[in-house]
Amino acid sequence: MASLSLKNVCKVYPNGFEAVKDFNLDVADKEFIIFVGPSGCGKSTTLRMIAGLEEISSGDLIIDGKVMNDVEPKDRDIAMVFQNYALYPHMTVFDNMAFGLKLRKVPKDEIKAKVEEAARILDLEKLLDRKPKALSGGQRQRVAMGRAIVRNPKVFLMDEPLSNLDAKLRVQMRSEIASLHNRLGATIIYVTHDQTEAMTLGTRIVVLKDGVIMQVDSPQKLYNEP
Ligand code: ADP
Ligand code: ADP
Repeated sequence: MASLSLKNVCKVYPNGFEAVKDFNLDVADKEFIIFVGPSGCGKSTTLRMIAGLEEISSGDLIIDGKVMNDVEPKDRDIAMVFQNYALYPHMTVFDNMAFGLKLRKVPKDEIKAKVEEAARILDLEKLLDRKPKALSGGQRQRVAMGRAIVRNPKVFLMDEPLSNLDAKLRVQMRSEIASLHNRLGATIIYVTHDQTEAMTLGTRIVVLKDGVIMQVDSPQKLYNEP
């Protein structure tokens, strides 16, 4: 569905701080790329540049052969799932999931069908009328996923999506994400600190430090070699 390249991408924040330095990566269609590295190494900045939430200072973001640097976030066909879920507290589960589609002027009956299908996949069918505060952490995380998958985007960006869940739910959601990846045939870039998540989900792992790519390898190579 989507290949994606970052070519010599740099990010210099307005205060002069260089958060991402000469980032080069080619992501193939349907890959599950994991970003790992210590806090502050530029993982979120890179995701935000891909999503269009942060300007690229120099270099190019290319998706399916097209330079995307100046394309509005809503026109990028990318969905992002955040660590804190970023649900709208005053809206129901249905409206949270429908929001991005309404923004893009998708017809109402189509929105309903898409939200209901996502709710089926994510086991949220009985919760569509609830507000986020009446949901468990795992359910909120599923709504955040649902909001992304209803859009059927080319690329999913996930920034530590499971880090606020307890250990048991994390294991459950991990396998749900793996099956979603297979089922949707999506290209995913996923930030985590969890080695098990990186090992089980990733097709390749990108190791970052101080805004620089240190290593790119398969999980087998990265974690199993002496
Ligand atoms: P990570 O996601 O790997 O923890 P970030 O991409 O959030 O790292 O941040 C990378 C670096 O950029 C950090 O040192 C952070 O303090 C800095 N940074 C993030 N946002 C800004 C900003 N708006 N202005 C200046 N520096 C920033
Ligand atoms: P889309 O589906 O187009 O990505 P979202 O519903 O995810 O739209 O949200 C659009 C923007 O609004 C995102 O940048 C997101 O971080 C922000 N956002 C989402 N929920 C909230 C909230 N409860 N409060 C403030 N900002 C939010």
